[in-house]
Amino acid sequence: MRVIEHIQKAERTLFTIEILPPKKGENIETLFSHVESLLEFEPSFIDVTYHREEYIYREQTDGSYKKIVTRKRPGTVGICASIQNRYNIDTVPHLICGGFSKEDTENMLIELDFLGIENVLVLRGDPIKSEPGFVAHPEGHCYASEMIKQVADMNRGVYLDAELQDATPTNFCIGAAGYPEKHFESPNINTDFQHLKKKVELGAEFIVTQMFFNNQAYFDFVRRCREHDINVPIIPGLKPMATMNHLTLLPQFFHLDIPEALSLEVAKCKDNKEVKEVGIEWCVQQCKELIEFGVPVLHFYTMSRSELVKRVAKEVF
Ligand code: FAD
Repeated sequence: MRVIEHIQKAERTLFTIEILPPKKGENIETLFSHVESLLEFEPSFIDVTYHREEYIYREQTDGSYKKIVTRKRPGTVGICASIQNRYNIDTVPHLICGGFSKEDTENMLIELDFLGIENVLVLRGDPIKSEPGFVAHPEGHCYASEMIKQVADMNRGVYLDAELQDATPTNFCIGAAGYPEKHFESPNINTDFQHLKKKVELGAEFIVTQMFFNNQAYFDFVRRCREHDINVPIIPGLKPMATMNHLTLLPQFFHLDIPEALSLEVAKCKDNKEVKEVGIEWCVQQCKELIEFGVPVLHFYTMSRSELVKRVAKEVF
């Protein structure tokens, strides 16, 4: 079922999660066990992230370095298909512009369509480590909005080959990313809203937010989206803080603010066991407030670990 139908039919706040494919060489059973431990909360859909290739330099026996292209976490499409088959839960594969030509994207969409996957979250992707900024594939897309248009075109039966007659329309429900605390590259919040609006105008039917720890950022974001005539459901993304390191790593990687009250609580902790308790309590309070606000879904970034999200969900659902 399409994400938007899940939301329209919901009689309560929905529980959903995001998982990561295992690292290359690891098995899928651990991932399944994390998913299984959250089944009691009846996830309506499960997002599976996409990880593009990276370049690493490996030293050779003669002292020279060889450039190697590798993908650390392949398997997004396979995981989505196996979750749908195994648990009968809808999946939302993430699609990224980085590393993809338009033709690659079209072929991936055809594959997803044949597998019965009806949802996609369309993203630009971050720059890879060896690049100073995001560099698009020479025959690919520079921004998520461009890829959204491609998916929306396919939903109308318009494929890349203009001579293709009577092509079967796909039926993807398209999601896009939103940033309550602004996307880090955007010159200002209003410009960011203009770009978000474009994603919706071109076909995004729902928005999933970057994680945040301050609900007010989400409330303001929703209000300003509505002021900009962005009227699709806005799904809040949440993550319980789990380690002391998160105080610096989360702002560094995700460009977000940790509220002072939370950072002070974490600073008082003797070890990560205590940090986890603080993180769970904070997230539970966030969830309760968000439900009261009327959010359609609570979407948890599990990082493929279920324990903390399970503790939060037990208090909230
Ligand atoms: P865009 O919407 O393309 O925006 C990127 C930047 O360009 C923004 O600053 C925007 O304001 C600006 N912009 C947009 N359009 C234009 C334009 N026409 N002209 C000028 N500027 C413009 N990354 C992964 O690699 N894999 C994942 O699975 C993944 N999952 C994610 C899930 C969620 C919910 C979120 C919030 C992020 C995820 N990311 C993932 C990270 C994401 O790829 C990065 O945040 C990326 O930097 C931006 O992606 P976007 O789709 O928001 O880009």
